[in-house]
Amino acid sequence: MSAYEIIPLRAFADNYVWTLRDARCAAVVDPGDARPVLDYLQREKLELVAILNTHHHADHVGGNGGLLARWKVPVFGPHDDRIREVTHRLKDGSRCTLPHFGIEFEVFEIPGHTRTHIAFHGGGMLFCGDTLFAAGCGRLFEGTPRQMHDSLSRLMQLPDDTRVYCGHEYTLSNIRFARAADPGNAALRELEATAKRLRDRDLPTLPSTIGQEKATNPFVRVREPAVVASASRFAGKALSDPVSVLGAIREWKNGF
Ligand code: ZN
Ligand code: FE
Repeated sequence: MSAYEIIPLRAFADNYVWTLRDARCAAVVDPGDARPVLDYLQREKLELVAILNTHHHADHVGGNGGLLARWKVPVFGPHDDRIREVTHRLKDGSRCTLPHFGIEFEVFEIPGHTRTHIAFHGGGMLFCGDTLFAAGCGRLFEGTPRQMHDSLSRLMQLPDDTRVYCGHEYTLSNIRFARAADPGNAALRELEATAKRLRDRDLPTLPSTIGQEKATNPFVRVREPAVVASASRFAGKALSDPVSVLGAIREWKNGF
């Protein structure tokens, strides 16, 4: 396996197109827009070798066509006809190997944000699209609190030092909500200070890690007494099971 680095290319207001690159080649995750990718690859004289898609939303797949017009490369993605360009449709437990880089990814189906959302895990990295964010989770457009809870729980089984590459720079606004949902969490206060310093210099707050999410993310901390208490306050009744707690804080955050 060649040495590679991960570059965050920005698209739209707050999307990241995570780009694996070495001296010659690149692979991209969720290219919502082809332009920033084309500009970067051209400037760096890199050949595209693969595209990975986590889910069908336009801000994650809208650049597929523009990149494929230039490079005929495999597109790894979910079983979902709404992404026409996918050449390798992957299901839970499938494995795929990135051409050139040789990194093997294991695929998880993680429904909740969308019905067919997947994540790629390999090389100590997790590309999780819009399911798991730093200190937050995606909106439930096509899924239930139960599905999101199961998907997040699954990701939390990964080693604590797994680097978590999310689809958006939402960290600061997520932390603002997380501090309301999980008051008194010292790790969250520390994370806020760090994230503010990074954003002041216009730097990404990502990747996160699984360990960081366990310590700071209210959507995976749904068994913590402080989170259960604030979710219950929002719901106006005592909530006891983790799925209802997740459902309540997701609804609370939607209007926060
Ligand atoms: Zn999305
Ligand atoms: Fe998105």
